[in-house]
Amino acid sequence: MPSILLLEDEMSIRSFISLNLKKANLTVYEAETGEAALDIFQKHKDIDIALLDVMLPGIDGFEVCKEIRKHDKRMGIIMLTAKAQEDDKVNGLDTGADDYITKPFSIRELEARIGSLLRRLKAVKRSVPEQQVISTPPFSLDIKKNTLSKNNQIINLTPTEFDLIKYLMENENQPISRDQLLDQVWGKTFVGDLKIVDVNIRRIRKKIEECPSEPKFLKTYWGVGYIWKYDKKL
Ligand code: CA
Repeated sequence: MPSILLLEDEMSIRSFISLNLKKANLTVYEAETGEAALDIFQKHKDIDIALLDVMLPGIDGFEVCKEIRKHDKRMGIIMLTAKAQEDDKVNGLDTGADDYITKPFSIRELEARIGSLLRRLKAVKRSVPEQQVISTPPFSLDIKKNTLSKNNQIINLTPTEFDLIKYLMENENQPISRDQLLDQVWGKTFVGDLKIVDVNIRRIRKKIEECPSEPKFLKTYWGVGYIWKYDKKL
């Protein structure tokens, strides 16, 4: 049974979400504050996804997200943001979240997002493809171990980032549209917008490119989307 860490300071919202997720056969750990959420995170190693409200009385959801990511690169994280915080979405994703959902949301929408992320997490864990390692020097993507390294140094990626770069690398030198990436990584049922692709790409570039504003590998393909450029002659 998948486990969810639910951080939400408003009791009525928290109880409502918790009740519904439990009905959907998920284990739910509830936290009222960021501090309590981090406490639960340390005690329970079985958490698959954290749902983090942004606006909280103590440390905010972004801080909690950052802290979780310091210790756990693979847990799924969905931020619960308010409408007025459109810009914060991007900040939240920069701190390492996989997805965000804007309040007010329906419980069905939230369950769809959780389902989509759980499928992604599982796919990353169990993928046993024909090709175990994709090598595009200086990068090497180990599909069995779910790691990306550059010059033999491991680069820490979230499951979403890993899926994205894996798909681009598998299709090296082919332009891939943002829609295709959204379908491939987030799933066809994903109801969010394309911006989430760009945010993740930007985050990956920060991790892998010498100069993220002038990427050499993960390039923008104007009018289409993105392309993993790999010149075998190099
Ligand atoms: Ca709140």
